[in-house]
Amino acid sequence: MTDIITLLVDALGSEQVSLGADVADRSTSYWRPEPTSTLALLRPRSTAEVSQILALCHAHNQPVVLQGGLTGCVDGAISADHEIILSLERMNTIESIDPVSGTVTVEAGVILEVLQTTLAEQGFMFPLDLGARGSCTIGGNIATNAGGINVLRYGMMRDLVLGLEAVLADGTILSSMNRMIKNNAGYDIKQLFIGSEGTMGVVTRAVVKTYPRSTSMNTAMIAVKDFNAVTELLQYLRSALGGSLSAFEVMWGDYFTAVTEPGWHRAPMQRDHAFYIMVETEGSDSHTDTERFNHALEQAFKSSLIEDAVIPKSESERKSLWDIRENFEAILEKKPYYLYDVSLPIQDMPEYVALVREALMKQFSQASCYVLGHVADGNLHLFLCPGEPGKWHEDCDRIVYEPLKQFEGSISAEHGIGTEKVPWLNISRSLAEIAVMHGLKATLDPSNILNPGRVIPLQN
Ligand SMILES: Cc1cc2nc3c(=O)[nH]c(=O)nc-3n(C[C@H](O)[C@H](O)[C@H](O)COP(=O)(O)OP(=O)(O)OC[C@H]3O[C@@H](n4cnc5c(N)ncnc54)[C@H](O)[C@@H]3O)c2cc1C
Repeated sequence: MTDIITLLVDALGSEQVSLGADVADRSTSYWRPEPTSTLALLRPRSTAEVSQILALCHAHNQPVVLQGGLTGCVDGAISADHEIILSLERMNTIESIDPVSGTVTVEAGVILEVLQTTLAEQGFMFPLDLGARGSCTIGGNIATNAGGINVLRYGMMRDLVLGLEAVLADGTILSSMNRMIKNNAGYDIKQLFIGSEGTMGVVTRAVVKTYPRSTSMNTAMIAVKDFNAVTELLQYLRSALGGSLSAFEVMWGDYFTAVTEPGWHRAPMQRDHAFYIMVETEGSDSHTDTERFNHALEQAFKSSLIEDAVIPKSESERKSLWDIRENFEAILEKKPYYLYDVSLPIQDMPEYVALVREALMKQFSQASCYVLGHVADGNLHLFLCPGEPGKWHEDCDRIVYEPLKQFEGSISAEHGIGTEKVPWLNISRSLAEIAVMHGLKATLDPSNILNPGRVIPLQN
């Protein structure tokens, strides 16, 4: 046993430190089923234990990789042989719900869907929602500043966090469990831990916002003829439906066709439209909300903005429509595939996608490119499938990231940088910004033990 493992076993007890065969059946991540590599797996039950672990690792320069639900898309939580995994999975208590201030206090390992359903049972809702809801954790959502399908109404995770508790690399517990909307008492230190992907500290607990549960919901899948119609429809629905529009998710025709091939999802309408959009509203009066929703769609039909639409008649029909947007197993079969998450001004999207497709086809004659996205947030997801075996990740990265420069877009809208996008960070951040990131990291984690090599390049 290495020194650090002996010290951890002495401090925490051997049942807390999993080694070798005990870790062998743990997958690397949602995306990579092969067994994980690690020196040891630690699953603390409290903030005090996290603090103990980090104090020891800090004193012995032991690198630590933080894990939530392992659904992250940029390999940030994937550990190497010499790294210790610190998983928050046992810290999964919903501590309290405060209906008056509209807050809920949770431990970082609470699964997003567990929080959603627990709140729903009590007449509340947590608005963050994304396809990985059944596995991802609140701590992971905070660390990645997750986005998802309701951002246009409720904002990203950053907008939902009022307070949090974090443990710094040296074991210091930093408790900022603020429950108020307003608190301008000096620097808002919690922001350092939101979206910094575990490089600044371990998020152990948080106070997040909750809202009264909507009592009415209206959903439609809509087909339109071109991207102009997409943006016109977005503007129209925003004004016609007021603040009730909660989702506007766009699928390019190629994506829709691929996931509705025979054997995959059933297509609820013709498969040859240019764009398909999932639209959803939430409100509190089912009669007037539905009337307003249907009226808005009728008007859009009359002005030829919409080519076709399907309105689900039951919850199971609604889920099947959303499945087309959220479940892209059909594309994951087309190996090798590379998933991207970028943002750019909405009006530049058609030109950008055309440039990506052109560059892809130029290099790979059998390639395909599937596009979908949270278009209202300026966020696109692209699957690039070169159509031939090989390791084409770097080639595809170049194809996707280079053209972003001319639109001043971002190489990461919501997934973060992890290890995967580190070489491309300078496309979206200036040298001065990256230098400040290094400065913050050196202040909070001088020995560089927390998620080293994630987000910013390692320095010699
Ligand atoms: C099917 C699918 C759909 C998805 N859709 C979306 C989407 O719409 N929007 C979106 O934003 N993302 C999406 N994602 C990505 C992913 O779900 C999010 O990034 C999520 O927030 C990660 O949470 P996690 O608990 O799985 O974190 P992990 O994957 O375990 O970790 C992610 C990062 O956070 C760090 N981390 C984890 N826990 C902590 C902690 N407690 N303290 C400090 N650092 C920590 C890790 O080290 C790692 O760098 C999707 C993923 C899948 C598989």
